[in-house]
Amino acid sequence: MSLKSPEQKNGRLVLPGERLGVIEEFIPDSGTYVKDSVIYSKIVGRALMDLLNKRVSVYPLTTGAVTPKVSTVVIGQVGNAQSDNVLVRIFKIGNKKLTGVFTGILHVSDVSDRYIDSISDVCRPGDLIRAKVISTKNQIYHLSTLDNNLGVIYAFCSRCGNFLELKRYEMQCPKCGNIEKRKTAPDYGTEEI
Ligand SMILES: [Zn+2]
Repeated sequence: MSLKSPEQKNGRLVLPGERLGVIEEFIPDSGTYVKDSVIYSKIVGRALMDLLNKRVSVYPLTTGAVTPKVSTVVIGQVGNAQSDNVLVRIFKIGNKKLTGVFTGILHVSDVSDRYIDSISDVCRPGDLIRAKVISTKNQIYHLSTLDNNLGVIYAFCSRCGNFLELKRYEMQCPKCGNIEKRKTAPDYGTEEI
């Protein structure tokens, strides 16, 4: 037994392809796959790190064939960013959490009715955002954050990864003091994921 109390990471939300650990530390269990000795999540779910038995598994959130439709509100994680758009891994539609992941795209022109310099003033990779589907043409989910209730719901410091606190005009990292910009939703930091 280790003297340090084992950190039980029950229930962390993970997405497909998310790194969970290495086979030297954990035995991969259901909902996971291994590539080059690294264990990844196969599904959207909650990761269970069983530190006693050294097992890692991912439990699916819900099942059911839900796909994003025009005017539905979705929640996703910001992925790759270009200068004028970001990709969003959609994992929740309305109140339904998905077992698969749909990729949406948010273009800088669909972000705000104010002029936006750069999409990095709106959201950054790793952030969770709430957005509305405005088109599903060619099965590409085009998203918008124009409405007042839409925008970033969780933002993370691009310097140290800590959760950013919402100040009056900007976002501040309580850990390293970094100041960043986002277009936040009015209920920033409160949505249950
Ligand atoms: Zn920071």
